[in-house]
Amino acid sequence: MSSTSSQFQQLEKLGEGTYATVYKGRNRTTGQLVALKEINLDSDEGTPSTAIREISLMKELKHENIVTLYDVIHTENKLNLVFEYMDKDLKKYMETNGQKGANKGALPPRQVKLFMYQLLCGIMFCHDNRVLHRDLKPQNLLINNKGQLKLADFGLARAFGIPVNTFSNEVVTLWYRAPDVLLGSRTYSTSIDIWSAGCILAEMFTGRPLFPGTSNEDQLLKIFNVMGTPNEQTWPGVSSLPNFHHKFPIYAPQDLRAIVPQIEPMALELLVLLLQMRPENRITARQALQHPWFADLNTPGVSVAQLTQAAFNAPDYAGVASY
Ligand code: AMP
Repeated sequence: MSSTSSQFQQLEKLGEGTYATVYKGRNRTTGQLVALKEINLDSDEGTPSTAIREISLMKELKHENIVTLYDVIHTENKLNLVFEYMDKDLKKYMETNGQKGANKGALPPRQVKLFMYQLLCGIMFCHDNRVLHRDLKPQNLLINNKGQLKLADFGLARAFGIPVNTFSNEVVTLWYRAPDVLLGSRTYSTSIDIWSAGCILAEMFTGRPLFPGTSNEDQLLKIFNVMGTPNEQTWPGVSSLPNFHHKFPIYAPQDLRAIVPQIEPMALELLVLLLQMRPENRITARQALQHPWFADLNTPGVSVAQLTQAAFNAPDYAGVASY
């Protein structure tokens, strides 16, 4: 244990991000637990632009499903971002609290619904504020001991709406990357996060990543194998995308029910609306939140936070409370 600053005691390492190491920390005065995201600054280059981007976005994005940034501490050669402490990320959560044995990692349907609802609320808030997350994956969805889910790691997010119409296309971690991005489209928009949300929904039901590709091409083939190989009829303009070629095997679309057998019928309906190959056909976060699968969460006078808390304290979820 060492001290990062006079204000915070640095405790154990929590994880490694794309460009930062994350430690648990404790406020010396209040005793409050925090997550310290430590970025080593290259003295020649000054503060990395990715960090600056993350900070400016996070400071403005205040929502119950977004991890709060409390403070930014700039020391000689380090930048420490002080975030609200969360117990674990969704990947670790599924490993620890998910089903054991056959469907290792799979979560109970009620829990999937509550996590998915919160994920979509966080995404809607980002999109309403003209921000794309662009790197949604279970590792950067954080869960606390009340069962609240919050989006973290805006390192790759970028405000859109500013007059820049080309985006770098190497942003979303492979398994959750949308087919339009994999095919080299540079004009993608909010729909990129919706594809990732669909992949995460399927994974929560099965405990396994839906499309675990090993390269750009393999990722596309894994998607085509399930969704069908796109063509000009199913996706006008697809053959003009930079990475499209005519040597792709021609796959017919499969029934997602067979790929995600654990899924509830209403959740399957939503999954189909999220996982549309053509980006413009994907449902928006706002529309997704209106889907009938979530109808039982709209209880007058009862917030989703209360429902989550209740679900997490129910006997079915006894394991969940034992963080
Ligand atoms: P990130 O750079 O945000 O992807 O963080 C890397 C890892 O550190 C995540 O996968 C989490 O396991 C952990 N982590 C990040 N932020 C927090 C936080 N606020 N509270 C607890 N753990 C965190």
